[in-house]
Amino acid sequence: MDELFKTLTSNMHFNATELSGKTWNQNWKVPEGLISIIGLKNGKRPVFYYGLTKNYEEDYELKKGVSDNNNKFINARLYFKFNRADIIEKEKYVVANGFNGLLLCINIDKEKFINTFEKMLLDGYKNGDEHIIDVLERMKERNMFNSVEESARYIANRDYNWLIGRLKYKAGLFNYSGQGYWLLPLKTKMEITKGFEVNNKELIVDLENTELFKNYLIYVDIKNNVIRYNKNRLCKSGFSFVDEVRKQMHDDICPWCGGKLRLVKTKRGEFLGCSNYPGCLYRRFLKK
Ligand SMILES: [Zn+2]
Repeated sequence: MDELFKTLTSNMHFNATELSGKTWNQNWKVPEGLISIIGLKNGKRPVFYYGLTKNYEEDYELKKGVSDNNNKFINARLYFKFNRADIIEKEKYVVANGFNGLLLCINIDKEKFINTFEKMLLDGYKNGDEHIIDVLERMKERNMFNSVEESARYIANRDYNWLIGRLKYKAGLFNYSGQGYWLLPLKTKMEITKGFEVNNKELIVDLENTELFKNYLIYVDIKNNVIRYNKNRLCKSGFSFVDEVRKQMHDDICPWCGGKLRLVKTKRGEFLGCSNYPGCLYRRFLKK
């Protein structure tokens, strides 16, 4: 949260205040923070006040399955789980104080995602999990890797890039890293914003459900240190901060890291590999 506030306050359009039981010495169930978005253009636009909470638990799951042609597979998936009772308490505060709403903030941390899943896969392998052993061994064979460690790192990277690529696409933020803070409005037109998964106890952000990311309000790209507003939500009409320029996707550029792809010839076969190998394991096999 400190990092988020530091980045927000470095931008002239934001006024970020940390408002919490800790800093105000109160027992209220207040959001962790309060932000106001002031004067989107020349100070002439309306001011928005939002409560902000980042009080969630991360749930890392290896989803195991078997494909139609009988191959075992594993998907690495991450969920952010907000406690529903806690959210309701915070929303009461937000309504009572006339804020525009409550923003739920999640932090997408690439290193953590990849390291966590890599470790989970290798732990499973060492502990004799047959499904994991089968998938890592077959991946090693098929992708011409030297070790199951490479297979595990490949799966973690593959699934991270797949998830983040889809949600960046949905949010219209293809030129950004996808890492950093996503501020998602709890409610839209009095109803829970489309894309949250809700049960009795929790409000869940499932990265696989990209609908929610179309509805983001603010995105803070920690890697490139830029803030993006969702013009469709904050601006009625007339202007936007959005540079609509789309970087062309180049065929010879690695989609995972931006490095150059080169043709690799081995005794086992040919493929396009990333020039940042072994730092990056991306490889594309040419159709025969
Ligand atoms: Zn690469």
